[in-house]
Amino acid sequence: MATRPFGIDEPIFVLQHHRASRVHFDFRLEHAGILWSWAVPKGPSCRPSVKRLAVRVEDHPLAYASFEGRIPAGSYGAGEVLVWDFGRWTPHADDVDAAVARGHLGFDLAGRRLGGGWALDRLRDDDWLLVKERDTAACDDGPDLTERFSGSVLTGRSFDDIATDPDAAVWTGDDVH
Ligand code: MN
Repeated sequence: MATRPFGIDEPIFVLQHHRASRVHFDFRLEHAGILWSWAVPKGPSCRPSVKRLAVRVEDHPLAYASFEGRIPAGSYGAGEVLVWDFGRWTPHADDVDAAVARGHLGFDLAGRRLGGGWALDRLRDDDWLLVKERDTAACDDGPDLTERFSGSVLTGRSFDDIATDPDAAVWTGDDVH
């Protein structure tokens, strides 16, 4: 049996921070053995009034969820990847495939940094919006999530730490975004 990402026996989410040609976040939800994936240029906001663009990208292998390290120069997405948050995710709808097909996916996150209710709403084609629902995990003022937290939630490392760590993992699998 393959080891489950993060040792969690329920469907996981991961939010990776990726310093490629442009720095962005990658939000991934485990579903049916793969990772549904969205690139979120500005990352999540805890403010329900702030809607963050989330561009749907290719499904990724489940094994990529816990990857933290370097993608080699010359490969797609070359640069550093760190695990910014992870945990369990629970969809609000019973039929998540139908929810995604319909373009509205509501869910709860139980991460280290992210919690409460969230939604992904499709604008058009691959463009979605990631929005915090109004609940006790929401915020209306004060520093936002990406100001409150930085670096790896697993190891505390920054991009520069990973770039200069001779022991950092190197991704040698298929192209990742
Ligand atoms: Mn990426």
